[in-house]
Parts: sequence; structure tokens; C-alpha cells
Amino acid sequence: MKVEVTEKTPQKILTPASGFLEGYTHSLNPYIGCAFGCSYCYVRQSPVGLFRKQEWGTWVDVKKGVKEKLEKELLLLRKKQKPITIFMSSSTDPYQPMEHNEQVTRALLEVMTKVKPDFLLVQTRSPLVVRDINLLLELKDRVMVSMTVETDLEEVRKRFSPAAPPIPARLKALKELRAFGIPVQVAIAPALPFSEKFPEALSKLVNRVCVDDFTGDGSGGKRTKRLKIGDRYEALEKENWYDGDVQKRVWERLRECFPEEQLVVSPEGFMPPKKSMDHSH
Ligand code: SF4
Repeated sequence: MKVEVTEKTPQKILTPASGFLEGYTHSLNPYIGCAFGCSYCYVRQSPVGLFRKQEWGTWVDVKKGVKEKLEKELLLLRKKQKPITIFMSSSTDPYQPMEHNEQVTRALLEVMTKVKPDFLLVQTRSPLVVRDINLLLELKDRVMVSMTVETDLEEVRKRFSPAAPPIPARLKALKELRAFGIPVQVAIAPALPFSEKFPEALSKLVNRVCVDDFTGDGSGGKRTKRLKIGDRYEALEKENWYDGDVQKRVWERLRECFPEEQLVVSPEGFMPPKKSMDHSH
């Protein structure tokens, strides 16, 4: 699908966190819009997605001049001796295809290796994140990469998010991140139908899994209903995966392969660790 790209120069790059992200001090979005265009993306139903008349996934604004802004904003927060915990990203994927050339996320990470936040969560579903391993290593004790792997079935992934990276590539990226000792988690978010083999395969790769369902869309599932997600389950003849119990059932399956302390549910599973607020400055 063709993606319309526009350049934008924002006033500020850090956004004070609120709502779902209130455990963080800020969110950081290198782009506005997201070319992965997942069918279930809750941003479609948020002001960012609704304001624009174009279909979600067909447009992306690239933020310009962000490096200097981030450095300035971080230094100011440091001066005020405020804790800085950052969620990147809440309404875009920081490693969407455009990042290959634009390198906005990379530039932001470069700044953060100099003026370090107390904690940074990198939320993505793209294997491109491995390109920045050298920078993530510099933030090692203050960073976690959360990789969305909603299913292990490509057939399901293609039905719900055809433009997102294939699952095997995401799993390979996780392996690489772990080999470098970078803290990672898998976010089964939202939990889509998966095979019997999925929990065991994950247990060989990671020791932290965060589970979410469509109630994690910021509106208790209402946004997802408006997106008619149920139709896609019907097309796959997997309607039994689309009900209020799915999180519980997914949890039970994961428990067969993971000790309880390695499993977390959303929103807690996306929150910064408590100790990240205690870094001395
Ligand atoms: S990758 Fe994330 S932000 Fe992008 S469309 Fe999918 S769910 Fe939305």
C-alpha cells in the first residue's frame, strides 16, 4: 500500500504521559501515524487517527529537528531533578519501515545514550530494532525492548496486520537482543489465536511475557468493537478466541511453560520497574 509521507517539526518531542501510561513520566513518538496499519490498532479510534480523514496506515508524518529538542527537554528535566521514564512509542511503531532511511528513532536513542532517562521502554513489532543494539547496550540497565508477538500463526497475522513484520523475523530479533543481554519481553498484545506450540516456543526465547486482550485498547474494548474485529475471527473460524475469557485462557496455557513470576498482564506489564524511579542523578 502506498504511504503518504509528510514532514512535521513539532514544538516539543516529549509528551507528558497520562491515561494508560500514567506509570511513565513521558511518551515519545518519533512519527505520527503508522505504516503497519494493524486492523486492531486502537490509535485508529483515538484523536490522532480520527482527525485525519485518510485511512490509518496510509499516511505517516516524520518528525524533524527532534534530536536537539529531546536533548534540551531531557536536560531541563534533569536540572529539575525529576525522574524520567519514557514509553516509546504509544501511538506509532518507532521501527516502522520508514525508520530504515529516516532514522528518527535512532537519532532519539543517540541522545538518550548521552542524557540517560531513568527508564526507557521500546515498544515495537519490528525486527529493525536490532540495528540499534549498539545504542541499546549503552542503556542496558535502563531499557527494555517489548516486542509484540500476538500469535505464532502467520495466517492469523496476515489476516489482522498484513503490513506488519512476519512473526519468524520478530522471534529471530528477540533471540539476537537476548544474545546481547538486552532486557526483553514478549507482548502478546492483543492475544490473537495461536497454536499449541506457541507457549513452549516462547519459553525458549524469553523469560518475561506480557498478556493483553482487546480491553487494553484504552476504552475497555469499545474501540475494538467499532473496528469490527469480530469479523476477522469469523473469517478464520476462530470466534471462540474473541470473548471476555481469552486473557484467562491464554494465561493458563502460558502457565504450563512459564513460572508465574515471568508472566505479567497489561497494563502492569508495560510499566517501568519500581527501581527506575530511584536512580540518583
Ligand atoms: S504497529 Fe502499533 S501503532 Fe502501528 S498500526 Fe500496529 S498497533 Fe498501531
